[in-house]
Amino acid sequence: MPTNPDREPSDRADPAPKFPTRLSLDDARTRIVELAAARPTSLESIAIECSLGRVLAQDVRAPFDVPGFANSAMDGYAVRHADLDASESTRLHLLGVTLAGGQAAPAAVAGGCVRITTGARLPEGADTIVIKEDTTVDGNWIHVAAGARAGANVRAAGEDYRAGDLALSRGATLTPARIGALASFGMREIAVARKPRAVLLTTGDELVAPGQPLGAGQIHDSNRYSLGGLLEQAGVDLVRHERLRDEPDSLRAALARASGDAEMIMTSGGVSAGEADYLPGLLAQIGEVHFWKVRIKPGLPFLCGSIGRTFVFALPGNPVSGIATFLALVKPGIDAMIGRGESPPRLRARLAWAIHKHHDRTELLRATIECDASGVLHATPLPKQGSGMLAGVADASVLVRIPEAAGVYGEGFVVEILPLPTALG
Ligand code: AMP
Ligand code: MG
Repeated sequence: MPTNPDREPSDRADPAPKFPTRLSLDDARTRIVELAAARPTSLESIAIECSLGRVLAQDVRAPFDVPGFANSAMDGYAVRHADLDASESTRLHLLGVTLAGGQAAPAAVAGGCVRITTGARLPEGADTIVIKEDTTVDGNWIHVAAGARAGANVRAAGEDYRAGDLALSRGATLTPARIGALASFGMREIAVARKPRAVLLTTGDELVAPGQPLGAGQIHDSNRYSLGGLLEQAGVDLVRHERLRDEPDSLRAALARASGDAEMIMTSGGVSAGEADYLPGLLAQIGEVHFWKVRIKPGLPFLCGSIGRTFVFALPGNPVSGIATFLALVKPGIDAMIGRGESPPRLRARLAWAIHKHHDRTELLRATIECDASGVLHATPLPKQGSGMLAGVADASVLVRIPEAAGVYGEGFVVEILPLPTALG
């Protein structure tokens, strides 16, 4: 498997930089998370049906026992276990019927039983449910097979949540099951972290909107869609996109406008050290550069800065560099801003074949993964590893993280993997 032949023009020493530069991936992410955690978004109350994927801004305690009353887990007969013969079938008198949501059932008196459906309140006196399949009916007499366990098929009051239990913690992501729990507590609304407002700026003289004809040397602006989708999936409110030329005055004006409208600006392109790369200089002029360049491949020219209280994440224009730096650096920053307390488990896989790495940056390779019969994940890097090749990332399910040191990483070497949003959720 050959390594990526791409060269990035900015991959060279910087003359006396005024801000930290060439950070390791982990240091860059730590710095972003620190800065972002100091700028949390406010909270808002929203209807639970609109809360999927949002982050809880409050602890939630069960307001009452759930279930609120002892009830049946099966369709069958509510009985008193003491009435049953342990070694042979017992004949019980049918006293009545109770259905889920129905009126109060007759009490289960000695020698009697009550027909019951799943979810119906346990009749007074009964302590066990015998499933329908273990009975035979003879008019008003029910024959119960021997062997019923005391307390079988009864759901106790509060066995799911006890009144006062801490059910969900601040920082939890609202999943379908958790929203279901909120509903079971009778809640219609919930306090969540407000979505950070973001403006996306794609920059480059060569960019043309999809649907427009391409002139000489022009390409369609794909980052507007790939990065815009990532932003929306990460839980930001994408308030605006602008496509800009490599022109300092219009870039400066757009950055100033965006910093007034958003808590986060994400740019693509123009952040390397090439002739038409104005962003680092402009940001140093009108704002602050926290750091520039990260020892990763692809994505070395990544810059993190601020204009006033607005974060600026300047991503390299190469489509794969943008996606990789977003997932490795911007997403953890967004999570910190909205106080997401849970990160997905760190996943690892074994390399399906050896990687020969000739540089000293962390490499994020595009790969597919497969789980073998013994539960081991294997990552197979795809052939298209160029930082401009969308096909590689479109066909991949994960990014594989190869450590910084140059060298050979053999078949079976254990690497960290970063799931790509669409493939593994
Ligand atoms: P830059 O980071 O501006 O030097 O751009 C690096 C590469 O990414 C160049 O080949 C650009 O044409 C390409 N590129 C920049 N912006 C975009 C975009 N929005 N969509 C697709 N490709 C882009
Ligand atoms: Mg450019």
